[in-house]
Amino acid sequence: MSTAAAIIIRNARVLTMDDAGPRADAVAISGNRILAVGSDDQIMAHRSADTRIIDAEGGTVLPGFNEAHMHIFGGSVSLRELSLMGVRGFDAFERKVTSYAAANPDLKLLVGRRADYTIFSQNDRVTRHDLDRAISDRPFIMTAPDFHTGWANTEALRQAGILDGRDVGVGNEIVMGADGLANGELRESGAMAPVMALGGTGVRSMLGVATGGEPDHVTDAERAADMALLKRGLAYCASLGITSIQNMDGNLYQLELLDEIERTDGLPVRLRMPFHMKNFMPLGHLVEKADAWRSRFHTDRLRCDFVKVFMDGVAQSGTAVFIDDYANRPGWKGEPLFAPEHFAQIAIEADRLGLPVAVHAIGDGAVRIVLDCYEAAIKANGPRDRRNRIEHAEIVQPEDVVRFAKLGTIASMQPTHPPGSAGMPLEPYLSCVGEARWHLTFAWRALVDAGAKIVFATDWPVSPLAPMSCIHDAMTRKAWKQGLPDQRLSLSETLAAYTRTSAWVEFMEDRKGMLKPGYLADVVVLSGDVEATPYESLADIRPIATICDGRITHEA
Ligand SMILES: [Zn+2]
Repeated sequence: MSTAAAIIIRNARVLTMDDAGPRADAVAISGNRILAVGSDDQIMAHRSADTRIIDAEGGTVLPGFNEAHMHIFGGSVSLRELSLMGVRGFDAFERKVTSYAAANPDLKLLVGRRADYTIFSQNDRVTRHDLDRAISDRPFIMTAPDFHTGWANTEALRQAGILDGRDVGVGNEIVMGADGLANGELRESGAMAPVMALGGTGVRSMLGVATGGEPDHVTDAERAADMALLKRGLAYCASLGITSIQNMDGNLYQLELLDEIERTDGLPVRLRMPFHMKNFMPLGHLVEKADAWRSRFHTDRLRCDFVKVFMDGVAQSGTAVFIDDYANRPGWKGEPLFAPEHFAQIAIEADRLGLPVAVHAIGDGAVRIVLDCYEAAIKANGPRDRRNRIEHAEIVQPEDVVRFAKLGTIASMQPTHPPGSAGMPLEPYLSCVGEARWHLTFAWRALVDAGAKIVFATDWPVSPLAPMSCIHDAMTRKAWKQGLPDQRLSLSETLAAYTRTSAWVEFMEDRKGMLKPGYLADVVVLSGDVEATPYESLADIRPIATICDGRITHEA
């Protein structure tokens, strides 16, 4: 009578994200597609002897999470690094580092992540001497929660050959001390790369972010190790309910590794990767690489179909570009990584090729440059459905908030990033931005109310990856002082920003982001009812099953 289902999820609170039929009790899957969505009785009619039944026990079922901004290679590496999240004071730091070093005697470089800018002191910046007191015989580097600043000990600087300083390119800086030697602080990936190169994956895991280039020569053993690392990272994504990843760094090396995983084991998560355009690359790369890679990688499971650009850095290290001066540094506004005229050429050429662009822009000055250039591309090439995006958009002037909707520019925001959320320290962010601009920060509500599309993600490994934890952060965000606007979205808007809208951003709204017949079978089954759970407890809800392309990729 009816087509048999391979998998049925029943006894669920299904939120389909489809406005035509937003709620159901059960979902049937056949092959890699959703077969039917409906009541338990309707769906159980698709049962056969071979049907796998998943009882959701009243938990929420959603389209699989689409993590719209993350870094799979760096994230995979971070799974075996030392987390310094929440560590305060030298003694606690020393205990952590000492035991991590003892547990990992074979690592050529010890890496700590998510160290507060104020980990040792409210007032003094971290130096190599602080680190040397805890570990001096092996190279050690730790990075800030935003990943844009690193601090290395003397041994790491020495082995990397940068103790005497080095020019590391525009926007990057090896900070020098009064003694004429590097003081340990390394600003941006170009400055950290020489130290990171000492590690097991060398610079290979960083190239997609740092240069967009390819590793020089990779041995078979290194390639196999990188592949194993990526597989572990992808499995970790599936374990958190993620079925789609939009990677925000890229190079051919990663694409080829992922393609090989797809052809051998099959990717447990769909992946979209950009061509990363840096300021030193000729415009011709957009045709020779971006356009060529798009033709080569174009399936529903692995695609390279957009261009990533960094316009600035982060406020904490003074590398974000503001319209007015930094509150704690008169005369300094930051410097864009691209001259506006240069980026306009790129935006117009990418647009001419039909390649969407995603630009990292944190300060209001950087956001404005990007919007201006997107506008120039529309003028140059005429009206079209473009879906260009701005990543982070942490500070946006009111007159630019409305331009997001007007220009069809998507705001890609991270609920884990407002200082005070997800272990992000308040300082030095609040002082850099200054109280006069606090009301302009992380303006989710203002952007949505002005008609902009918004997607949410974690920027893993910058923040912890778990979507339910990120959704918790989105719903429990607190203002830094009374009187600041409440920028939270509703729960349903927040869930849409993690599912339906992120599929739309990828031009995949005809097959992803909703649970409806004929759509790809990408589903997450959660351990609780998200609508009935107090916001404070949302992070306790776990994925009990993840299904991607009709295949169960995780089961608790
Ligand atoms: Zn990122």
